[in-house]
Amino acid sequence: ATSLESLTFDNVWSRFPQDFFSRVNPTPWRDTRLLDVSPAGAARLGLEVDDIDRERLTALMSGERLLDGMEPLAQKYTGHQFGTYNPALGDGRGLLLGEAMTPQGPIDLHLKGAGQTPYSRFGDGRAVLRSSIREYLAGEAMTGLKIPTTQALAVAINGEKVMRERVEPGATLLRLAESHVRFGHFEWLYQQQRVEDIERLMRHVIDRHRSDLAQEEAPLEALFQDVVTRTAELVARWQAYGFVHAVMNTDNMSILGLTLDYGPYAFMDRFESNLTPNHTDASGRYAFDQQPGVALWNLTVLGQSLTPLIEVARLREILDSYEPTLQAAYAILMRGRLGLETEQESDGELIDEWLDLLERSRADFHRSFRALSDRDVVGGLSLAEEIDSPALGPWLERYHQRLACEHRGETERLAAMRRVNPLYVLRTHLAQQVIEAAEEGDTRPLATFRELLSSPFNRRPGMDIWAEAPAASAPPVCLSC
Ligand code: AMP
Ligand code: MG
Ligand code: MG
Repeated sequence: ATSLESLTFDNVWSRFPQDFFSRVNPTPWRDTRLLDVSPAGAARLGLEVDDIDRERLTALMSGERLLDGMEPLAQKYTGHQFGTYNPALGDGRGLLLGEAMTPQGPIDLHLKGAGQTPYSRFGDGRAVLRSSIREYLAGEAMTGLKIPTTQALAVAINGEKVMRERVEPGATLLRLAESHVRFGHFEWLYQQQRVEDIERLMRHVIDRHRSDLAQEEAPLEALFQDVVTRTAELVARWQAYGFVHAVMNTDNMSILGLTLDYGPYAFMDRFESNLTPNHTDASGRYAFDQQPGVALWNLTVLGQSLTPLIEVARLREILDSYEPTLQAAYAILMRGRLGLETEQESDGELIDEWLDLLERSRADFHRSFRALSDRDVVGGLSLAEEIDSPALGPWLERYHQRLACEHRGETERLAAMRRVNPLYVLRTHLAQQVIEAAEEGDTRPLATFRELLSSPFNRRPGMDIWAEAPAASAPPVCLSC
């Protein structure tokens, strides 16, 4: 395709049984203005950002004019929210507009903030600017860090005001994902004992997204194994990069192992192992250090939904692979962040002690890793400035002993570390500054931050303010859904 209008659609979902979805048209919003369009998002559709007609995109995102071939619908699903089953879920404020066929495969175009649907319950079907910009930037940041994710093509503000904790500008987000199939889709079918439909949905995922699994002896088992493996690898990445999703309900879990549904998420500033940015999560169910266990709990719920098709003993066996997969993936990522190419049994301890050092000294998570990789760079970060603790010296001594077992030269090692230790991180206070500027009509900070996050490892001249930690006096991160 060379323009939005030349995208072609093959809307499999709209051919599913009738109660899988409701056909709903977007509610048109007044005075919609594009705030930013993502080059990386455009690339996912096989487009160049300059090829996208901004007026056409605005008309799409305002809900006024769909593209030829789109068949908007709200998907039905259910899920466990904070551990409790909720049968009343579904797309309450987003619509699947259509499934685009791109050179890299099918991509869902999903308009978030598109108005009410039969699944809106008491909600208004709208999205606000603050959370839309946060979701937009999150897709960029995750992609920049090579963490699987949904990602928005663009974010737009509209003329309607929306009531949340305060009155906020309304917005829409055009979200892209290979698929929006969630664990909750299977839970919904399982609750009704619709075995054929569970199998139909599994075969859909295989045919459309995991075609290599079709050749396996037991493709349905292979799909569950694939979900377990990818979820373990996803969570390993979240843990390695200090990301807290904060609302890991089963309806927010992607069957493809993508990060899905950005709400009160946070990237760490100072390292806090039990960080819970969602102020409505009083028990800390979705705290940073709970995420590996919660994902396994969610996978177990998914496994339960597959019991009509896969033997329980086999499901258990597959679930047992979760923890070793996560541990192995996490170890690789963390060794990379510390610049270790070889593998030693004591590496786990070295990593744990490093994290412990960061937590006790209230050091900034990302700047500390970066300082470790910047040591020979003029104008780089300094470890002693980042970590103010008498325990730094002893840890560094162990680290240097460990480095002596490495074959790589220092320059090469530090360069490799700077390719995995980001300088520009999606920090809550920076996102907030971008949001406030956008509310005032200035979208330049949004474009700048988006651009830095999309390649977060390369230092850009004059951009150091975007690498700063929040002031020590800043209040703790506290967000709502
Ligand atoms: P979330 O916490 O974002 O996963 O949302 C949970 C459920 O509430 C989903 O079914 C959403 O579609 C729905 N929902 C969230 N916000 C709204 C809203 N403003 N209007 C209607 N439905 C909503
Ligand atoms: Mg959700
Ligand atoms: Mg949400």
